[in-house]
Amino acid sequence: MPADPDCIFCKIVAGELPAAKIAEDEHTVAFMDLNPWTRGHALVIPREHSRNLYEIHEQDLAATVSAAKRLALAVRDRLGADGVNLLNSCEPAAWQTVFHFHVHVIPRYEDDPLRLPGQPMQADPDELEKVAGEIRGG
Ligand code: 5GP
Ligand code: ZN
Repeated sequence: MPADPDCIFCKIVAGELPAAKIAEDEHTVAFMDLNPWTRGHALVIPREHSRNLYEIHEQDLAATVSAAKRLALAVRDRLGADGVNLLNSCEPAAWQTVFHFHVHVIPRYEDDPLRLPGQPMQADPDELEKVAGEIRGG
């Protein structure tokens, strides 16, 4: 897809908006998140605009995930992260706020205060089978 004139991440790719860039390659750009959840929280995006996971081309997806892995190793080795969360949000119901595909690379530290809001639920095995069947389709 061509660059979207209203997309802030397209503007970062084009150099029209400032960003603290970390790495770039043919298909991706990695830069610091403006409002980090932990020290070193970064975003990896494809250069080419796509709205989100539903729309991204496979090649851009693969390149973005590979770049996220390189970044995960970099924050482990250079920032001393004890772990990393990768996060992608697809559509507002899943907290997406910027509509250019991106993967959050969130360094985690043993004593960091970040708490993800998931609450695991008890599930009936029959219900799990039923949902699995619905997702499989047919
Ligand atoms: P989402 O909520 O869509 O998963 O993530 C969007 C992320 O982009 C947020 O973590 C937000 O802090 C970050 N962000 C929003 N605007 C800008 C910006 O102009 N520059 C940078 N570097 N990050 C931004
Ligand atoms: Zn864009």
